[in-house]
Amino acid sequence: MIQLTDLYFSYPQGDFNLRIADLNVSDGESVAITGPSGSGKTTLLNLIAGIALPASGRIETRGVNIASLSEADRREFRISVIGLVFQEFELLEYLTVLDNILLPFRVSSALALTREIRDRALELADEVEIADKLARYPDQLSQGERQRAAVCRALITRPPLLLADEPTGNLDPANKNRVLDILFDYANRESATLITVTHDHDLIGRFSTVIDFKQFHYSGPAEQSAEAMQPV
Ligand code: ADP
Ligand code: MG
Repeated sequence: MIQLTDLYFSYPQGDFNLRIADLNVSDGESVAITGPSGSGKTTLLNLIAGIALPASGRIETRGVNIASLSEADRREFRISVIGLVFQEFELLEYLTVLDNILLPFRVSSALALTREIRDRALELADEVEIADKLARYPDQLSQGERQRAAVCRALITRPPLLLADEPTGNLDPANKNRVLDILFDYANRESATLITVTHDHDLIGRFSTVIDFKQFHYSGPAEQSAEAMQPV
């Protein structure tokens, strides 16, 4: 599903950089990514999604070298193949919950917003118990409800790959398990691959694989990798 080889990434501003020699995620795997704050977990999800591009090395997602695509093709690839649940949800405040869930179909020229898709949005909302809130705006939802709306938006296109960035952060224990249940149920049903950044050690046991950032080389102003701190 995902293959990273000799990856090197750095931001144009600041001195954070990340090296990953080799990382493979198989189809249908459920992966928890852990690591200290600032170690590059969000950056890695952005690289896999083609939102950020590596300075060198190769990233293949479903056999496609995303960096070789034009910006427009990268965007279409992302919309059709990847369901993203962002760390800060990124719901659009000026759209209703329903329109937020349908957003991938509004912004992509390749995806048609059909009756079936609208029905699917209602089904998803029903499944996560926000069906009665579809006409509201995001600022009229609780944190847990906003999170679930963001999950519905990530699932609406039936993506084979789900990337979730700390989807249980800021949620109470009941809502944490609920959000994970929704992600895992979807992944099992659709044989999708699930990659989740999480700090929650109680939840890690649910994943088939754990990737700890300690194994990568990263460095920046705030943190040093374990390896970088070892005496030479
Ligand atoms: P994590 O998700 O593990 O907390 P991030 O991937 O968000 O870490 O960030 C890794 C490092 O990169 C941090 O030091 C952060 O300050 C830095 N960083 C994040 N985004 C940018 C950016 N756009 N420009 C420069 N530095 C950035
Ligand atoms: Mg992060």
